[in-house]
Amino acid sequence: MTLALYACDPASSRGRRHAEAPAPTRTEFQRDRDRIVHSTAFRRLVYKTQVFLNHEGDLFRTRLTHSLEVAQLARSIARSLQLNEDLVEAVALAHDLGHTPFGHAGQDALNDCMGEYGGFEHNLQSLRVVDELEERYPAFNGLNLSFETREGILKHCARKHAQALEAIEPGGVGRRFLNRTQPSLEAQLCNLADEIAYNAHDIDDGVRSGLITIEQLQGIELFEQYRVATLVEFPALQGRRLLYESIRRMLSAQVYDVIDATRIGLEHEKPQSAQEARLAGPLVCFGEAMRAKSAALKHFLLHKLYRHPQVLGTMGQAKLVVRELFDAYLADPAQMPADFTARSDTARAVSDYIAGMTDRFAAREHERLTGRQFLG
Ligand code: MG
Repeated sequence: MTLALYACDPASSRGRRHAEAPAPTRTEFQRDRDRIVHSTAFRRLVYKTQVFLNHEGDLFRTRLTHSLEVAQLARSIARSLQLNEDLVEAVALAHDLGHTPFGHAGQDALNDCMGEYGGFEHNLQSLRVVDELEERYPAFNGLNLSFETREGILKHCARKHAQALEAIEPGGVGRRFLNRTQPSLEAQLCNLADEIAYNAHDIDDGVRSGLITIEQLQGIELFEQYRVATLVEFPALQGRRLLYESIRRMLSAQVYDVIDATRIGLEHEKPQSAQEARLAGPLVCFGEAMRAKSAALKHFLLHKLYRHPQVLGTMGQAKLVVRELFDAYLADPAQMPADFTARSDTARAVSDYIAGMTDRFAAREHERLTGRQFLG
């Protein structure tokens, strides 16, 4: 598979923070991918909530299956655009490593708790996991990933955090947030693949949960268009198969749309290297029509699913669990494992400890520390 000029080439990687000899059979990005798959944080993703709590049903997406779906979509688009599939896979598999238990509710609660201690941002935490928190190598903390993988993992970053990163690592992964340039095309692709993946699988999980219905989705153009097309071909189709076929067609259409729209942008800008592509402005994108349809679907999911009273009810409990865990550990750090207790930055140690928890471990710890049982 030949890479395009604008793809990230592992042979010209900007390298790792700690120099390492090259691997005999694998490229630098393949190595990154392998390190991520073998990490502790990656295994925990299987017990972390995407939208529905992990224990609510065995068929709902978890952060792990979500990450695998993002990797699949991103790789498939990368191959068509001659981008680096290994890099895309590494970034996609790592993109949610910093997520707290209980999805966005957990992250919001932890950010509130950390308000006076520098805050909590899940993208920054994903970077912390691979840079600092994984303990697998004798000579350094973290996984020592290449610049390009770390750049892709840090997809958003507040200015103050970017300044802090820049102070430790001048010209590193914080820089682009200060001079407002784009990350590699592979990183841009993972970002969009994330969105395509959750829009589609949240429809599926939402309908399975009974919180949204196919009838409601018929008001959403992006879905309805492919439901109607499916019925033209298979007039008798209904239920689950109709839902899956409509989602499948919707996913394919979005993939082809990204490939077409991105090719147009690339032909216009003609970047001659990965670095030129970074400076060209956002290039991996939907066409205008698809962007509008995707935004309408997102709006629907936000209001009808993520803010469904039942989801909000559970998430309110989840926030309370995180808040009470935080207060309990801060008041008595010895309740944490010894290596967290030993740290001098107690609030950040508590935040790292909680962020690493799976849903069920957090619920169990909460029960142990407060004697009260939440979240089933
Ligand atoms: Mg994601």
